[in-house]
Amino acid sequence: VRGQGHTTFGQAQVEGGLVIDMSSLNQIHTVTDKCAVVDAGVTWRRLLTLATARGRTPPVLTGFQGLSVGGTLSVGGISGVSYKRGAQIDHTLGLDVVTGEGSLVTCSAEHHRDLFAAVLGGGGRVGIIARAHLPLVPAPSHARHTLLSYSALGPFLRDMRELVYRASFDGVSGTIGLNADGSISYGLNALTFYSRPDTPETPKLFERVGASAWRATTEFEYVEYCLLVDRLIDQLQVTGGWNDRVHPWLDLFLPDAYVERYLGDVLPTLDPCKDVGPPQLGPLAQIHLFPLLTENLRRPWLRVPPGKLVFLFDILTSSHGPVSDPTYASQMVERNRRLFEKAREFGATPYSITAIPFSTAERIEQMGSFREDFEACKAHYDPFGILRGLHQGDLSDA
Ligand SMILES: Cc1cc2nc3c(=O)[nH]c(=O)nc-3n(C[C@H](O)[C@H](O)[C@H](O)COP(=O)(O)OP(=O)(O)OC[C@H]3O[C@@H](n4cnc5c(N)ncnc54)[C@H](O)[C@@H]3O)c2cc1C
Repeated sequence: VRGQGHTTFGQAQVEGGLVIDMSSLNQIHTVTDKCAVVDAGVTWRRLLTLATARGRTPPVLTGFQGLSVGGTLSVGGISGVSYKRGAQIDHTLGLDVVTGEGSLVTCSAEHHRDLFAAVLGGGGRVGIIARAHLPLVPAPSHARHTLLSYSALGPFLRDMRELVYRASFDGVSGTIGLNADGSISYGLNALTFYSRPDTPETPKLFERVGASAWRATTEFEYVEYCLLVDRLIDQLQVTGGWNDRVHPWLDLFLPDAYVERYLGDVLPTLDPCKDVGPPQLGPLAQIHLFPLLTENLRRPWLRVPPGKLVFLFDILTSSHGPVSDPTYASQMVERNRRLFEKAREFGATPYSITAIPFSTAERIEQMGSFREDFEACKAHYDPFGILRGLHQGDLSDA
């Protein structure tokens, strides 16, 4: 199943099979004050536009709104607000799913719970999401983004944890920059949503935080803020700076207990030019860190390490131009493998959008305690095993 095909490692491809392109299944059926019913091929951008026209918004949006609803509900959908709101898959009221047998089944936390659990984050392996029932919440009019810049990892992580546990900001995330002179800079992004004429008392929210950091604040209209990455991608698509590039991203969930040690070991080994990407890609060629409180992640497919707090660590690697060196992508995939192996020692788990090939045995290991439920669901809803992906077979060969 292919939504917008933005996963960077062929997750929306299949070897020797048929790809189902969902982009024309794209009707927005209803938008009310409380919820929206949309086809899976609808992009979040179209839903955001219609919902905000009536003062509403989906509670969790990813950094880029050009992704399809079915595409992010099949992986997770995480952003800076997820530390306290969870992922997009935690905000799904119900789904209409086409099973491997060809039946159309409506599922939710109450009805066909097994299918609901196996499809959200399931990468299209048990059923095809045809339609989603999504909650909407009041949309703020504005977003205030404050960037705290650090030159050392320790204070950056300490302040990030403090903001996460205080939960006074709407969004908390990190951006790590590898500088040409070999230094590393750490940006802590604190986000507040508000509706004018009210304005947030930001200084109060930063009490006892950021003493060693340089601070900058920017105000945005809410929709403008949500579409910052979309604007960048729109421009890059015109100049050939996006679709022609290779994007071998690394995306791992790291446990809090080891995040400092892991980043302290790994970041100095990375090359700003080769391992990340050209500066004109801005946040699309950077390293990101999203804190997540696990109590807010309620869907079984999003396998994160144990513990109260985990971090999604993303290296958004991009080639500097259309790739002329055929070994570049494989070198980066090998790098991802190496960094995953190192993180695995510490109990890390992969996010399914990452560019790492896994064996069937590894995929089974990653399913953990969800394996039995998944296999029972697969046997029930896709008994002939026709739903597969290039890097995520149906596990029946194990
Ligand atoms: C610029 C950019 C920014 C991003 N930012 C974020 C971010 O902030 N947070 C985040 O979590 N992710 C982010 N991602 C990753 C993104 O969430 C995934 O790549 C997402 O799957 C892409 O959606 P898509 O519509 O392109 O899906 P595709 O790449 O087409 O498909 C993804 C997977 O879902 C399956 N699938 C697609 N549609 C369906 C369906 N209807 N039913 C069942 N299975 C289906 C596919 O088979 C495949 O396995 C970003 C990606 C890009 C390119």
